[in-house]
Amino acid sequence: MDVHGPRVETPGSVRITRIALYAVELPYSGGVYHLSGGRTYTSFEAAIVRLTCDDGTEGWGESTPFGSTYVAAHPAGTRAGIGLLAPALLGLDPRRSERVGDVMDATLTGHHDARTALDVACWDAFGKSVGLPVCDLLGGSTDVPMAPISSIPACDPEDMRTRVADHRARGYRAHSVKIGALDADGGPALDAERIAASLADRRPGEFFIVDANGGLLPETALRLLALLPPGLDFALESPCASWRETASLRPRCPYPIVLDELAQSDADVVLGALDTADGIGLKISKAGGLTPGRRHRDIARAAGLTISVQDTVGSSLAYAAILHLGATVPPRSLRGVLDCEDMVTRKVAALDTVVTPDGVLPGRSPGLGATVDEEALGDPVAVWES
Ligand SMILES: [Mg+2]
Repeated sequence: MDVHGPRVETPGSVRITRIALYAVELPYSGGVYHLSGGRTYTSFEAAIVRLTCDDGTEGWGESTPFGSTYVAAHPAGTRAGIGLLAPALLGLDPRRSERVGDVMDATLTGHHDARTALDVACWDAFGKSVGLPVCDLLGGSTDVPMAPISSIPACDPEDMRTRVADHRARGYRAHSVKIGALDADGGPALDAERIAASLADRRPGEFFIVDANGGLLPETALRLLALLPPGLDFALESPCASWRETASLRPRCPYPIVLDELAQSDADVVLGALDTADGIGLKISKAGGLTPGRRHRDIARAAGLTISVQDTVGSSLAYAAILHLGATVPPRSLRGVLDCEDMVTRKVAALDTVVTPDGVLPGRSPGLGATVDEEALGDPVAVWES
């Protein structure tokens, strides 16, 4: 679809001529993942896109919903959305990221999960076509190693303490600890025990996010906070499911509040930045890809919010996108990057990364720096060609 009227042909353009979609099962590496409200997950389904251009340049992107009960996304919907968007992108130059976004806007409203795999694949192709890593195209890496963030499911408090210790031993310096017990399962008292146990062995320099994934009401949140021992150092993420509940809690909460599920669109991030939060969880497939993710980074930075760069979940390609966007966030604002690749047992690519005792950085390979293992993908489930 042409959203700008007649076009003048630009010399040197690169055109997308083929898009292939792969569906890949990603079992969770930690057994059963428990989230607030009794939600459980054991496996995820990735949508992986390979786009090919008329000069042979390729780009890869991934979008993996966290099941069907995290945000308004589910794996079959991601694939269906890509089925609407992909034909509209044939013939476009993948390096004109905002213009590709205009065409996606004109083709499918919302559905950030579906847009993400295509948007990220365009950035990968852009980098390969000019010989630069994606982080350079997004503003340049700070070259300061980033703290990997663990993702600790809501379970028995001592089990959570052990999981934090295991991740600490593997180099994680930030931890996202899940809470949100139903009243029947222990309610605020159990959540207070979970927080205290998870932070019990806290080391200097570690950062803790306590994430309720929208599972608390203002009332249960206030009861939980009243049960905590003094002196705990953490930020409270997604305490409540709605803006009103979050705004109601904020002036009564002594901890910084981080937005995650509520911050999906540009307008959400602006609203949250102005009124409701001290930080955001910037998940690339929640935002709709690296193009809107870049905007969210800049809005958050301008508003003085801290940022953790994440994705809902995902394998190697999702992790690569996280690393490249995360590397462009000034260290003062960056709380860490989610190692989603470590959350699943199947890797779909080898990544060019630099791992140091202080954290991780993307390497200098062009694009995402991912060498895809095509055997791990199987055959494509759909192909679109011009
Ligand atoms: Mg979160």
